[in-house]
Amino acid sequence: MYKADLARMSEKIHTFATFGDAGHGGITRYSLSPEAQQARAYFQKRMESIGATIETDDFACMYATIPGSDPDAKRIVMASHCDSVKNGGNYDGILGVIGAMEVLEAVVADGIPHKHPLTAMIWTNEEGSLYPPALLGSGAICNPYLPEAIGKNFKEEDMLASKSVLDKTTTFAEALEASGYKGARENRINPDQYKAMFEIHIEQGPILEEAGLDVGVVSCVLGMFNVRVRFYGQAAHAGTFPMAYRQDALYAASKALIYLHDEIDKLDRPELVYTTGEVSIHPCVHTVIPDYVDFSLDVRHEDPELLAEVLKIVNSLADQEWAKCRCEIAPQWNRDTVYFDKTLVGYVKEAAEELGCKHQYINSGAGHDAQFAAYMLPTTMIFASSEKGLSHCEPEHTSDETCTEAVSVMLNAVLKCDAE
Ligand SMILES: [Zn+2]
Repeated sequence: MYKADLARMSEKIHTFATFGDAGHGGITRYSLSPEAQQARAYFQKRMESIGATIETDDFACMYATIPGSDPDAKRIVMASHCDSVKNGGNYDGILGVIGAMEVLEAVVADGIPHKHPLTAMIWTNEEGSLYPPALLGSGAICNPYLPEAIGKNFKEEDMLASKSVLDKTTTFAEALEASGYKGARENRINPDQYKAMFEIHIEQGPILEEAGLDVGVVSCVLGMFNVRVRFYGQAAHAGTFPMAYRQDALYAASKALIYLHDEIDKLDRPELVYTTGEVSIHPCVHTVIPDYVDFSLDVRHEDPELLAEVLKIVNSLADQEWAKCRCEIAPQWNRDTVYFDKTLVGYVKEAAEELGCKHQYINSGAGHDAQFAAYMLPTTMIFASSEKGLSHCEPEHTSDETCTEAVSVMLNAVLKCDAE
């Protein structure tokens, strides 16, 4: 068994943490920002120092490739993202890039024989924090392979037209041009030149830590649906209008939300997760009874039948009035559970066993570039346990040792794939 090197891993983890260092333990590193440019430059410098060839595609995804013994063999790629959310942590995304770099560095340093070229890749704009949506780069590049219902949300021209949430004018296309990392369209990852993709990511939940484990062998990305629940009331003066006559859309939404939780919880499926994270209210004035409220509902589970059951409960909200307000359900989008390639999942499992690494099978509740790549190429993921399950925040942490162990698992899984 081959192993990733702890000292090399620590050096990379702590160096990348300086690019966008927000001063309190985490980073803000929006895609294509000056901080992300620093991360890309460091990636390029390290990869060139081991003799890798650097390419970029028209979405500024970066590819560092070392040759294998067979010049005609397809590449095996390891990839994740180097951008973060605002005040994010030092592991989400970048750990997958560091892991990919480490596999190449270990292969070169230890002279590990391999047939296929090996590529470390950075996907552009996974978080979509500055240029929404999340998964912008992989959504556009994998678009020809995605199911219509998903692909329509990631059309190339729409992605290029995405506007900065900060200045509301700069488009993603302009940011690409200005980045200095825009390359040729023909350099995009594709199934003709690439055999398989691996992605390491932090778990972003507490399951592995609670089980006393370091690594998750990821079998799927959970299916989900997303709706907006809308309530229509009547605006009136907060001081003059008697309570009995009101159609208060916020009160209606509150009642409906509690009803939703009660009914969904009756299904008694603890692994089902659902969230209302966004609320809008009109006119949002403290002296006016709200005449319009809507809230988001995001529901995730592996089983499509259970998701259908939950959707039925959600749709039933519109069959009645809530505090004399009309309710409407507006479907936004949904995706089926994406299962990773069974053979690759098997290699990851074998590698974890052979290394004596404490592991278990796990699902991904979060979306990742790998879920779109999976429609195009055999793809799989490896999770490193997250301390306290925290992510998308500055205290996000995984020890250097656990990160290194996850990379050792990927290194050996990649070599199994190489030896096929
Ligand atoms: Zn991520």
